[in-house]
Amino acid sequence: MGRRFGPYGGAYVPETLVPALDELASEWRTARSEPSFRAELRRYSTTLGGRPTPLYFAERLTRRAGGAEIWLKREDLVHGGAHKFNNALGQGLLARRMGKPRVIAETGAGQHGVASAMIGAALGLDTVVYMGEVDMARQRPNVDRMRLLGARVVPVRSGSRTLKDAINAALRDWITNVRTTHYLLGSAVGPHPFPSIVAELQSVIGREIRTQSRRAFGRLPDLAVACVGGGSNAIGTFHPLRNTGVELLGVEAGGPARSRVGAASLTRGRPGILHGAYTYVLSDADGQVRETESLSAGLDYAGVGPEHAWLRDTGRARYVAVHDDDALRAFRWLAEDEGILPALEPAHAVFAAVRAARRRPRTQHVVVTLSGRGDKDLEVVTRAGRARAR
Ligand SMILES: *Cc1c(COP(=O)(O)O)cnc(C)c1O
Repeated sequence: MGRRFGPYGGAYVPETLVPALDELASEWRTARSEPSFRAELRRYSTTLGGRPTPLYFAERLTRRAGGAEIWLKREDLVHGGAHKFNNALGQGLLARRMGKPRVIAETGAGQHGVASAMIGAALGLDTVVYMGEVDMARQRPNVDRMRLLGARVVPVRSGSRTLKDAINAALRDWITNVRTTHYLLGSAVGPHPFPSIVAELQSVIGREIRTQSRRAFGRLPDLAVACVGGGSNAIGTFHPLRNTGVELLGVEAGGPARSRVGAASLTRGRPGILHGAYTYVLSDADGQVRETESLSAGLDYAGVGPEHAWLRDTGRARYVAVHDDDALRAFRWLAEDEGILPALEPAHAVFAAVRAARRRPRTQHVVVTLSGRGDKDLEVVTRAGRARAR
């Protein structure tokens, strides 16, 4: 478990957190190789989570693209409707194993908060979710879900009252309550060892892609595509494929057509420190973190996991930004061609996958990770449709 990915990663945190991070790293090292822990993880993944998720041949979408075959890795079918479950489950089991009765989590759109609340309930952990006040207003249904699942949702009133402020609040809580509390971080970001733990828990996605693509079309895909917010579903897709010849394409949110920022830290940011890690960050010339803009709440984050920063610099993975309008277009393609309403986050990846498939021969295979389902985005999509019709 590397502490650094090239120059990226590390743990830029207050002194008081260092013992907690060290403890977490060592507990994880033990747990991950322990047969009983792995058996528990497998049991809940299958019987509560619904794994393995299918690899689906998107035949009509392939015909629309008119090139390489497009296959969808169906993380939208995981319990709760997104890949977030994979990580919340693993860390929940780890918290229980460490004897910590309380978990805290941060959430932006509410997806990770809901996943944490589900796991908290299933494992009998006291769950507290920090959420920016602005996000609470924007994502009301997820606030209700978390509360129904027995979690306490704490409004964060500092800064821009969104995700990055919720992360800061969760870190502060952790510093105070570290003896009883595990911080269930929601993406492959933050200080070591979080990016490595989250990557490993999400790697179930890429491992299944490896097995399922061999079974479905006799070899590995030529290209794997995933959307990148903090980067957890993408790193889970890429990790098990990184030592193969599979091309890797990460897709960030480009935001509105005229936006110069969007939420594209790898394609438009620069190296800096955010939330305890050295990575690519959207910041201004004075090093201030910029306000991001994206139609999809799950991609709306100014930083990115440090391992992606290194994959970018080394050229092992490529990253592009896709604008709001193109993500909406891909949302409609998937709805009308395949009968699937995707979340807006992976709709960005679907757009990039269709564009890539179009330029490739029919003999090639493109796998795109469909990180979540679109129920949460219906209002945004419908409103955008009405605005267009006017
Ligand atoms: C949260 C979320 C994302 C973005 O998070 P990553 O850590 O980059 O995977 C993407 N898709 C869905 C459906 C999400 O809920």
